[in-house]
Amino acid sequence: MTTIYLKRHKEESLLRFHPWVFSGAIGHVQGKPEEGDLVVVRSAEGETLGIGHYQEGSIAVRILDFFTDSLPSDFWQERIRAAYLMRVALGLLTNDNNTYRLVHGEGDFLPGLIIDVYDDTAVLQAHSAGMHIARKEIADAVVSTVPQVKNVYYKSEGTLAMNRRFGDIENCYLIGAESTCLAKENGLVFSIDWLRGQKTGFFVDQRENRRLVERYSKHRRVLNMFCYTGGFSVYALRGGAERVCSVDSSQKAIDLVKLNVERNFPACTNHQAVCADAFDYLSKVQQDGNQSYDLVILDPPAFAKHRGAVRNALQGYKRLNAKAFEQIAPGGILFTFSCSQAVDKEMFRLAVFSAAAMSGRRVRILHQLTQPQDHPINIYHPEGEYLKGLVLYVE
Ligand code: SAH
Repeated sequence: MTTIYLKRHKEESLLRFHPWVFSGAIGHVQGKPEEGDLVVVRSAEGETLGIGHYQEGSIAVRILDFFTDSLPSDFWQERIRAAYLMRVALGLLTNDNNTYRLVHGEGDFLPGLIIDVYDDTAVLQAHSAGMHIARKEIADAVVSTVPQVKNVYYKSEGTLAMNRRFGDIENCYLIGAESTCLAKENGLVFSIDWLRGQKTGFFVDQRENRRLVERYSKHRRVLNMFCYTGGFSVYALRGGAERVCSVDSSQKAIDLVKLNVERNFPACTNHQAVCADAFDYLSKVQQDGNQSYDLVILDPPAFAKHRGAVRNALQGYKRLNAKAFEQIAPGGILFTFSCSQAVDKEMFRLAVFSAAAMSGRRVRILHQLTQPQDHPINIYHPEGEYLKGLVLYVE
């Protein structure tokens, strides 16, 4: 097997179980690794540090197992089983809930792999060539471990850059076929379009935060900005909102939110879905002089996809939140999120703070939110903490 020797003193982070080897840490390579190959990593002195997937680029190796030079034959089975047992232990699989993240990359000691489960279907997404190569073994391990799952859909066209070794990567069913299952989250049902939708089809990571929106929605006029499938809208309606407006710039998202509201509340007359740009919509509401919302949710796509984009992203968060502070009704509650991994908690809070100060309003923090328990953070890999939210009371 190919062996990668690190430069002197570059083993420190691996000794602390951080699962990434950066290309700059590599001293020399014995063999000619191809993208996705399993490689052994050793210190300059020859100590075995671990085994992992090789990839060209800044993260050269993602470690799967430490201080060994081989993986056990039941490796995938064992890791998937550990992930599943944790979800069961956390009480995520109930009659009311069949939607959860089964594998969250580094958080489940499987760097480069995401698996979301929607009732009888698992959607598998590879973020590394190594996980692409292992996809069939992984799919087998999922089906043999999770009794409810009968179908495994592979969706990596968008996450794996075109790769010389594999050519074009196609989305397809690895096991089973399309099912008509409905995803259930905390007793609410959702149509999920994993074939055409964003990511794996649904944003599972907002489950607990949606519950909090439900708690604060009674008698409030709710604006769900960047609504996508309408998760927050449906919870707000169940929570007794006076009315809910869902806004997204994608017509497909608007069609989905309408479908999901209809599924849960067939007789609903207090929901409106608008296809519009967030900034335009908020400006228009403000120009109307109509401070018409007293609970606003801002859950935009990641403004910074990489470190180089952080400065612009922070400006974006500031502008967006400033718009919300300008128009939210007195006594209003703002739920504001960032899912950019490159923007940390402090930076995000500072951007929101600047927006609040510009508005001159009295603002207090009620809750500080993060990702739910099925998106665990590996304690040795703090980069895994990506979702940040603030719930603010605006006078
Ligand atoms: N809140 C959602 C997830 C949001 S994903 C949930 O709970 O599921 C981000 C959404 O923002 C996408 O649906 C995308 O279409 C939408 N979007 C991106 N840019 C936008 C813009 N400028 N204005 C309005 N919506 C936008």
